[in-house]
Amino acid sequence: MAADIIPLGPSGAGASGAPASEKDAGSALDRAAEGLGLPGFEPGWVWLVGAGPGDPGLLTLHAWNALSQADVIVYDALVDEAVLKLASPKAALEYSGKRGGKPSPKQRDISARLVELARAGKRVLRLKGGDPFVFGRGGEEGLALVEAGIPFRIVPGVTAGVGGLGYAGIPVTHRDTNHAVTFVTGHTASGKVPEHLDWAAIAKGSPVIVLYMALAHLPRIVDILRENGRSADEPVALVRNATLKDQETLESDLGSVIADIERTGFKAPAIVVIGEVVRLRQGLDWLGALSGKVLDANPLGLKADRDAG
Ligand code: SAH
Repeated sequence: MAADIIPLGPSGAGASGAPASEKDAGSALDRAAEGLGLPGFEPGWVWLVGAGPGDPGLLTLHAWNALSQADVIVYDALVDEAVLKLASPKAALEYSGKRGGKPSPKQRDISARLVELARAGKRVLRLKGGDPFVFGRGGEEGLALVEAGIPFRIVPGVTAGVGGLGYAGIPVTHRDTNHAVTFVTGHTASGKVPEHLDWAAIAKGSPVIVLYMALAHLPRIVDILRENGRSADEPVALVRNATLKDQETLESDLGSVIADIERTGFKAPAIVVIGEVVRLRQGLDWLGALSGKVLDANPLGLKADRDAG
C-alpha cells in the first residue's frame, strides 16, 4: 500500500502538502519552497534525510525544507548541532544514538519509533549523517516503513567519503590517478572487519579505497591490503570531523599509517582514503590555502604536455 502513495516527482509532484501559509510564515525558505516546488511535509509521513558530513552549508534544500516543517526530528550521533539549530522551534528533537556510555538503541527500536510517531500523525524527520543510503541503514528503516504502510521520502545527502574528502582537498576520482573507487565499511553489524569481502579483488581492482568506520580495525585492514599486494609507500589520508571547524587531516602511507595514528593520537570519527588521489591534496587543499598553505599546481609531477582530450 505504502509504495503506491510515494510521490515519484523529483521535487514532490503529488506531495503538495501544507500550503505555505501553514508553515513558518515569511521566511526566505517559504519563498524558495514555493519558487522551487519543494514539497510540503504531510502529517503521518517519514522523511529519511541525509544531513551531510557536518557543515550546515552542505545541507540540501530538501533537508532545509524538511527541518523547517518537521514536528519530530529523530537524529543520529553524527548530525551536527548547527544543523539542528535550523529546525523549526516547535519541532521535538529525539536523539537516537549512543549516549553517556549506554548502548545504542537497537535498529529495530528506532524503526519502531519512526512507525509509532508517523501513526500518531507527526511529520517525522529521520535525520542521518552524510547520506542515508551510504552505510547509514536508511534502507533498513525505509523497508520497515514499507512493511508498516507508512509513506516516506528519501532525501540524499553529501556523503563523508566524497564531500568530507573534498574538504581535505582530495578528489575521489581524478583522470590521472583512478577510474574507479570502492567504498568499504571497516565495521560490520557484529563489530568485526568485514572478512567476507573479497579483499584480494579490492586490493587488485580498486585504485582508490575509501573506508568508513574503519579506525578501530585499520591495523587489520592495512595488513590485509598489504598481503594482497598494496605497497607500503601508497599514500593514505585520514580526515577527522570532516567539514567541521575542527577538521583534521593526517597524511601518511600504508607502511606508516598505524604508527602515525598512535603517535598523533588521531581519533574517530574519521574517513580513510587509500590511493594516489591523496597526492592531489598538495594542489587542492583549498582550506589549507585559506590559512596560508601554498598550493602546488602539479602535485602528481606530471609532464606539461598532457593530452588535452
Ligand atoms: N551515512 C554516512 C556514514 C555513516 S557511517 C555518510 O554517508 O557519510 C559513520 C562513518 O562515516 C564514520 O565512522 C566516519 O567514517 C564517517 N563520517 C561521517 N561523518 C564524518 C565526518 N564529518 N568526518 C569524518 N568521517 C565522517
